[in-house]
Amino acid sequence: PVDASTAALTVQPVGFIRSCYREKFGIPRQPGLATSARARLELSGACNCLEAVNGLGDFSHIWVQFLFHGTQAEGWRPTVRPPRLGGDKRVGVFATRSTHRPNPLGLSVVKLEGIHQDNGQVWLELSGIDLLDGTPVVDIKPYLPWADSVTEATSGFAPEPPENHPVLFTDEALEQCRQYQQQTGHPFQQLIMELLSQDPRPAYLKKRSRSDYGVRLWGCNIRWRVTEKGFEVFSIEREDR
Ligand code: SAM
Repeated sequence: PVDASTAALTVQPVGFIRSCYREKFGIPRQPGLATSARARLELSGACNCLEAVNGLGDFSHIWVQFLFHGTQAEGWRPTVRPPRLGGDKRVGVFATRSTHRPNPLGLSVVKLEGIHQDNGQVWLELSGIDLLDGTPVVDIKPYLPWADSVTEATSGFAPEPPENHPVLFTDEALEQCRQYQQQTGHPFQQLIMELLSQDPRPAYLKKRSRSDYGVRLWGCNIRWRVTEKGFEVFSIEREDR
């Protein structure tokens, strides 16, 4: 017989995420959906050394296992209402990728753009992430396409990627995008298009008549509204972090 208490384990972060996503709202629901999204994974403690990632740079993608630190305190329930089902129907927590889980651990496959070291800090450059700024990472593993990609797999109530919605910019917002892009090197316009085209609103907000929203990226508040033609970005305001 297995004694459940012997399976208890204390897990220490191996690093932390510094991400373009400064709040939950707007983050894609899975990795790879917004390929312009960038993050640094800064290794910490005894893991902050190049030896620990020796050989990893030869892999294009990695698995990142992490703690849902932003929702951890909210606990979990055996059933959840996935956005894919319109927020009305309940399914078992283990049939979903919900952030609210008995052990609040997430798993994302992301692109490894590079491995760097500056001022004693080793960090991995990642793209296509779905991770909140400050996320503690508990493990990193190379992605093995021949073992991890299952071509005949089916995916229940989420059979396809999210549908794409049109995204428009006012002239003012477009100009602000150009300016911030030039000042910071971040691909503002491309990332905003990737994020908004997936309609980041949770199901309950889609049912409300409210039409103005804000998404926080790289220290800027991206303000957009729902119009008949699509989602229109009308201003980009710089914020102090
Ligand atoms: N790919 C992961 C998985 O399947 O375990 C995460 C899927 S989860 C549905 C993705 C959402 O988690 C994002 O849209 C974002 O809102 C949320 N999220 C990302 N990092 C988080 C964190 N550190 N704490 C809480 N929520 C987070």
